[in-house]
Amino acid sequence: MASIIMENITKTFVDEKRGGTFTAVNDASFEIKDKEFLVFVGPSGCGKTTSLRMIAGLERQTSGNIYIGDKVVNNMHPKDRDIAMVFQDYALYPHMTIEQNLEFGLKNMKTSKEEIKKKVQYASRILGLDEMLDRKPKELSGGQRQRVAVGRAIVRDPKVFLFDEPLSNLDAKLRVQMRIELAELHQRLGATIVYVTHDQVEAMTLGERIVVMNKGEVQQIASPRELYRNPANMFVAGFIGSPPMNFFDAVLETASTLRIGDIIFTIPEALVKQYSDYVGKKVILGLRPEDIYDEEFAFTVPTNNKAAIKVKAMEHLGGENLVYFSIGDRLITAKVHGESFVRPGEAKNYVFNLDKMHLFDIETEKRIF
Ligand code: ATP
Repeated sequence: MASIIMENITKTFVDEKRGGTFTAVNDASFEIKDKEFLVFVGPSGCGKTTSLRMIAGLERQTSGNIYIGDKVVNNMHPKDRDIAMVFQDYALYPHMTIEQNLEFGLKNMKTSKEEIKKKVQYASRILGLDEMLDRKPKELSGGQRQRVAVGRAIVRDPKVFLFDEPLSNLDAKLRVQMRIELAELHQRLGATIVYVTHDQVEAMTLGERIVVMNKGEVQQIASPRELYRNPANMFVAGFIGSPPMNFFDAVLETASTLRIGDIIFTIPEALVKQYSDYVGKKVILGLRPEDIYDEEFAFTVPTNNKAAIKVKAMEHLGGENLVYFSIGDRLITAKVHGESFVRPGEAKNYVFNLDKMHLFDIETEKRIF
């Protein structure tokens, strides 16, 4: 069993320049299930790498307990935790061949020669490295080097793989390819994988569940679908999804009407009862770019909530277009049909599909529903 439990984990660093302490991870509690692919995602500095390093034993938590399997590993040395870590910079030995790089960790573990050969053959076969075992790292492409780094983890046959932004040095196309390879690898190995990235697309495509972090705090732990459909708060709503969710300053004028500036929207009947405490108050309306339509192309959604809006700019992406406009102080993005055109400065009717709306509390920024 390779489940991992983080129990009330806090990590503070001493801030040597300014004095005092800095909390990098604040009271995080969650479980990573056996064989799960779990992704930590969040902006730079939110505490993802620190969390991963604490699981690896490279960093000691200030308080709380970490369990791997049924053992508390608080005081366990990294090499005894049965985990393998793949770093962003691959950390390959430049003077060694690929084969020697793959063998290196095993030699240190005093594995027999036959066993080493078998494991290196297995890893190089599943990663497509057979042809390049006698080359040096500098003779490999970025993607191939990345595979060697993964191979070095695979030969150790660990219970848990930890990945720290392993794809960030690759170009966009290779990243997509390696993403697919990593997902396949997870299926094939049946191992627990904990993966850190700041890229929400990578998190959404790879993670069975995702831990969204911000400023050292866990914001939400859920499946990609759940994060997209039911974000816990404005941070998660704005971080997950591309382009991000739009936010509008709104007033719930009555139980069934919502005002944004001069525009009055009617709230779908099915949603009306869920926020009765907020009637008469200011709220934040959240609506994703894909839920705003050019009226000419709004074939599949109710069209009662619409407004003529002056467009600031338009971007053509091929299959779809992005339209930008301002409402109040906020820049709003609509992801519209590829055949929907408008000139900057022109006004056009846009439909807001409020069946997909979210409301957020203006103070706590938590989702009301
Ligand atoms: P990134 O995506 O930029 O790698 P991250 O989410 O992985 O960011 P961490 O590396 O976990 O962030 O760092 C979290 C916070 O803790 C940051 O503000 C960082 O400056 C701070 N921090 C990390 N390591 C140390 C350290 N050894 N001493 C002091 N502060 C540290």
